[in-house]
Amino acid sequence: MIPTDLLTSHITHLECADNEEKFSHLEIQTFCTSANGKKSPLYAKYGSLNKVGKNVLKERTASLWRYFEFLPVLNPENIVSLGEGLTPLLHLENLAKELHIPNLYLKDESLNPTGSFKARGQAVAVSKMKELGIRRCIVPTAGNAGGALAAYCAKAKIDVTVVMPRHTPEIFKQECSYFGAELILVDGLISDCGRVVGEMRAKEDYFDVSTMKEPYRLEGKKTMGFEIAEQMNWQLPDVIFYPTGGGTGLIGIWKAFHEMKQAGWITGKFPKMIAVQTENCQPVVWSFAGKHESAAAYVARPSVANGLAVPFPFAERQILQVLKESGGYALSVTETELMNGVKSFAKNEGLFVAPEGGALLPAVKKAIENKWIGAEDNILLLNTGSGYKYSENFMQI
Ligand SMILES: *Cc1c(COP(=O)(O)O)cnc(C)c1O
Repeated sequence: MIPTDLLTSHITHLECADNEEKFSHLEIQTFCTSANGKKSPLYAKYGSLNKVGKNVLKERTASLWRYFEFLPVLNPENIVSLGEGLTPLLHLENLAKELHIPNLYLKDESLNPTGSFKARGQAVAVSKMKELGIRRCIVPTAGNAGGALAAYCAKAKIDVTVVMPRHTPEIFKQECSYFGAELILVDGLISDCGRVVGEMRAKEDYFDVSTMKEPYRLEGKKTMGFEIAEQMNWQLPDVIFYPTGGGTGLIGIWKAFHEMKQAGWITGKFPKMIAVQTENCQPVVWSFAGKHESAAAYVARPSVANGLAVPFPFAERQILQVLKESGGYALSVTETELMNGVKSFAKNEGLFVAPEGGALLPAVKKAIENKWIGAEDNILLLNTGSGYKYSENFMQI
């Protein structure tokens, strides 16, 4: 563990993503509403980052808490940890050879507690709930966010209600129940679960941990960006492929790059960010291509990649902004393509990735065919979860 007296968060306040209105991080916050009624996420802001040297990392624990200065928890005693973060970054030698792209890497987030990168977000969100004295919370989820929240709430002794689509594989439900969460099953997708959460909160007091409507899951997920830089020896890749649902990781990684630049930890160009979705649910791809006025009109179907079945991402404008700023793209693959991706990772690299991760491989092929990226580029894929949780979905195909 870290000698806690050495740790100081550099957080100064929260800021509205839309109009830069400032909010106190010392009080419970959710999201911001602009004068025109537009709802946007809040971003944690940090000061004097140029005073934080990379050398602090030398004595730090092998978890995401090694970046404590860039995290929102004020008192290290409030940290609720199950050992999240510092996941392996692997060279995919066999796939690199097969696809003729020598510099193909994968950050394997399946090794996080509860088998997905949702652990990062929930570790920080729950630590912050503990710090702010929140005793009861609720979350709509496609699966992994609920399981991770339930685990960290068990550790923190916070009451939690998880609202999940009924068609989610059993293990996602079982883990919530074993962790002591109240589990509510809903016919439909995460957007329908969100409606149920709204109805329940109208009757009773729950803190809402919905994606991007709570400010600190983003801070946990951004640590992937710090780790990518540290593990690649402070030379960022040329392009990052990210399976996008609510977009927390995509926005978070981009935020991390900016903060590291502010701290002087990295220089030079940032990677192109590529959002990968499934054809069954591709609101970001449609918006990026200007195919619909608003994601609110989008009709989605369920996916074997449960985490990608997010029809109306709350932070869609911020996702599109990252894609644009980075010179990136949004693209989708079919359900068959992403399952073939899972098989290919397994057979060639010994990795049993989540279907969301499987989507990355056909996405890389498409990006190369379209000449969006070069075969010599340094390519990083983010496998967001473990295939071991999706057994029922694999049986469908
Ligand atoms: C939640 C989830 C995603 C989508 O993550 P966002 O950061 O919300 O875009 C992708 N893959 C898996 C396995 C997930 O659980």
